[in-house]
Amino acid sequence: MSEFDVSERVASVPPSGIRKFFELAEERDDVVSLGVGEPDFTAPWRAREAAIDSLERGRTSYTANRGTRELREEIARYVERFDLDYDPDDEILVTAGASEAIDLAFRALCDPGDGVAIVQPSYVSYVPGVQFAGAEPIPVPTRAEDGFALTPEVLERSGAADAEMLVLCYPNNPTGATMDREGLEAVAAFAREHDLTVLSDEIYAELTYEGEHVSIASLPGMRERTVVFNGFSKAYAMTGLRLGYACGPADAIGAMNRVHQYTMLSAPTTAQHAALTALRECDEEVTSMCAQYDRRRRFVLARFREMGVECPEATGAFYLFPEAPGGDAEAFAEGLLEAEGVAMVPGDAFGAGGAGHLRVSYATGMDDLRTAMDRLERFLDNH
Ligand code: PMP
Repeated sequence: MSEFDVSERVASVPPSGIRKFFELAEERDDVVSLGVGEPDFTAPWRAREAAIDSLERGRTSYTANRGTRELREEIARYVERFDLDYDPDDEILVTAGASEAIDLAFRALCDPGDGVAIVQPSYVSYVPGVQFAGAEPIPVPTRAEDGFALTPEVLERSGAADAEMLVLCYPNNPTGATMDREGLEAVAAFAREHDLTVLSDEIYAELTYEGEHVSIASLPGMRERTVVFNGFSKAYAMTGLRLGYACGPADAIGAMNRVHQYTMLSAPTTAQHAALTALRECDEEVTSMCAQYDRRRRFVLARFREMGVECPEATGAFYLFPEAPGGDAEAFAEGLLEAEGVAMVPGDAFGAGGAGHLRVSYATGMDDLRTAMDRLERFLDNH
């Protein structure tokens, strides 16, 4: 015990449902985990070499608050592939992972009591981020039968029209859903009509297996009301380097930088050098990793179909979100882990719309995926 009284705001936010499950999985050593949300690949060598080189040259100081000029310029060039056009001077902020950018956006752009509509099932950080900022999360549940697509009807039904801000993430964690231009145009029209600002988490943009990634910020009338998040964790397999960024209108990015300059000062310098090289020289590695994820995705989907496990066709990120056989995802995940040592995450951890589903990550080698699918098949045969 200590003299500290945890703040009510923090005490009211439950611990992450994903973590709890990992702790269970860590108790034994024969587990094949399809639970983790990070690449099984190592960052491309040239990016690592750039990090080593920057250390050898003694670049161990802070950078500019917003990130090195060179990296911001390279990011501006990179996002042009998504039809986005941002000024490296004041419309791009380099952060310690997309995670920091997301947290900054809530803190810098929300007032206490503001409604923040969060498209769910969702990545686990948005709701707590909104709560830490004193704002009010409004769940916007999407449905398996619509392939977890976001539509104006879904927004209308959940009361998003009364929110100040909308948070979406495509390609999606945890469902793997992507959205095409037409679908996003309908969402954009809703946002304009109801004067919503938009936070668009596009960290899985490169991992789009059918069609091409469309950024909502590239649609007419959306640039001025959207902040886009991206980073190096997923496409470049650089999770541990902790580097991401936000792009948006200068006043939004300026406000985020106001918080960032006092709380973080600058994103990790070594990682910024690695990221610069990743953007300049590592396209080929990204393409190769992406092709491997796609192969795995098709393999797991095919095995699910053979086993009669219902699973929406997911065309992005590295997740599938099948229905839990029997309907109770928590009981199924615990039973599968106990009997066969295969870890999947119950969908309830990802908020509304997630119940009865399992998040299955295929950021795992083919051999492990084969083993996991064989064990799943045996489990289904025996239960
Ligand atoms: N957004 C989504 C949707 C994610 O899945 C993750 C990582 N799991 C993040 C953001 C955070 O990424 P980073 O490592 O850049 O902080």
